[in-house]
Amino acid sequence: MPSTLYEWFAASAHRHGDETALETGEDRLTYRQLRDLADRLAGEVLAVHGTVPRRIGLLAGRTVLGYAGYLAAQRLGSTVVPLHPSFPAARTAATAAAACLDIILTDTDTDTDTDTDTDTDTDTDTDTDTDTAVRLPAPVLPLTRYAAAPARPLPPSAAGPDTTAYILFTSGSTGTPKGVPISHRNLSAYLEHVVPSYAMSPGSRVSQTFDLTFDLSVFDLFATWSSGATLVVPGRDDLMAPTRFVAARKLTHWFSVPSVVSVARRLRSLTPGAMPTLRFSLFCGEPLTLQQARAWQTAAPHSTVENLYGPTEATISCTQYSLPADPAAWPDTVNGTVPIGTPHPGMEHLVLDPQGHPADDGELCVRGPQRFDGYLDAADNAGRFLIHEGTRARPFDAPGPVTDDLWYRTGDRVTRQDGHLVHLGRLDHQVKVRGYRVELGEIEAVLRSRPGVRDALALALPGPDGTHDLEAVCTGEHLDSVALLADLRRRLPAYMVPRGLSIHDDLPRNANGKVDRTAVADRLTAQYA
Ligand code: AMP
Repeated sequence: MPSTLYEWFAASAHRHGDETALETGEDRLTYRQLRDLADRLAGEVLAVHGTVPRRIGLLAGRTVLGYAGYLAAQRLGSTVVPLHPSFPAARTAATAAAACLDIILTDTDTDTDTDTDTDTDTDTDTDTDTDTAVRLPAPVLPLTRYAAAPARPLPPSAAGPDTTAYILFTSGSTGTPKGVPISHRNLSAYLEHVVPSYAMSPGSRVSQTFDLTFDLSVFDLFATWSSGATLVVPGRDDLMAPTRFVAARKLTHWFSVPSVVSVARRLRSLTPGAMPTLRFSLFCGEPLTLQQARAWQTAAPHSTVENLYGPTEATISCTQYSLPADPAAWPDTVNGTVPIGTPHPGMEHLVLDPQGHPADDGELCVRGPQRFDGYLDAADNAGRFLIHEGTRARPFDAPGPVTDDLWYRTGDRVTRQDGHLVHLGRLDHQVKVRGYRVELGEIEAVLRSRPGVRDALALALPGPDGTHDLEAVCTGEHLDSVALLADLRRRLPAYMVPRGLSIHDDLPRNANGKVDRTAVADRLTAQYA
């Protein structure tokens, strides 16, 4: 069995060199071509950096060079840290600094301002107000200039099961994104399960809908490339019209957030039999409603619809539920969502009540080979792990290594129904916006840091089909809602910027003196009614 991401890819490249590995727009690359490109880029990175970089940033979209850059980093045995090209530059610089990147690969040829100065804090702190002034704290290598570089000899990769394959940054409730390192060992446990599960092989055609900054993209890339299948990349417009894309490109496997189903439903494109080639339709990242699943299955009658669940911290997905082929046999759940099912092999789970006792309805906690070993910044581990002894769990708050026996608290509320887990919502203020993970606390922290803001509240108001609309409320002196929103846009990814921001004199409080979030939400909902 391969033991690193690159080995999974290389084994396919060896066996299926002439099969198509990647199709994006008009570009088609065989496994051999993609491997050669990745190896050549790896050679350039090595030549520029001098030694194998420990951590490589990848500021790239879903492009040939983005994928080859990902593989180049893996070929070298470095840790890849995907960075989103459309995120505000200040956020990218802060992430690059937090990740201590040695070098950043980009798929664009624009002159990115770089600064190899190690005093990165000063850079990001002083320059956050204007994107143009932000400097990245590591040298930037535009891959476009090296796509035709000659092959150079490469040393064998020193990566092994315990090496970190990637670090992804997720929204952090204290105002700073949290780095989640995932090891090759975590990924092998995951891939050994999923690769045989979906009958992928040469000839299979798999969608690539997820940004590289979202861990679900790792399924797209590496489940595909572990099987000799073809990764088929939709353009931006294709995601608005998935049925047309699936039919035109004859996809056999689809994987996206359920929000894509809602978009297709609104556009009335899920007509019966519209996607006859699909064999598997996988959804993950946010609740999948039975209604969404039914609408999709009608359009893809030959496909198995599956709901996958998992936090980034448990490596891509850690539970799954396959809907029976006959819709008459589908379960009827308490909240109309498809169950999240049962854990992947080797993954253990507990459902705990607020006192830490096993319960039928409570917080889902997981451990096993896919569980990460703690955040990049160990301070973020506080409150996230439990020790379970006898019939009771207690918090693990000691500094020190996150050992295999510890349970990761997902923050998700679940219940059991007919032997399967059903997702009931969150126990904290984390929400999903079109599948993107958002800590409302992070939006609030950014607002509170602005001059004149006394208090800030971010809320997710329920929209149609399980979607959420973000809203913010501030109290303080001489505040301008337009300026505050503009400021959020400079600091946060677009999906984290509230659709509206209102200034209130005061925030309603409950009997304990805490801000009454429900009362504010009711007030805003009434405003929009
Ligand atoms: P992320 O770390 O971005 O993958 O987000 C993980 C969170 O997304 C989980 O903790 C859940 O709150 C939510 N989530 C992921 N998959 C599902 C699902 N199938 N049903 C409900 N919520 C989900």
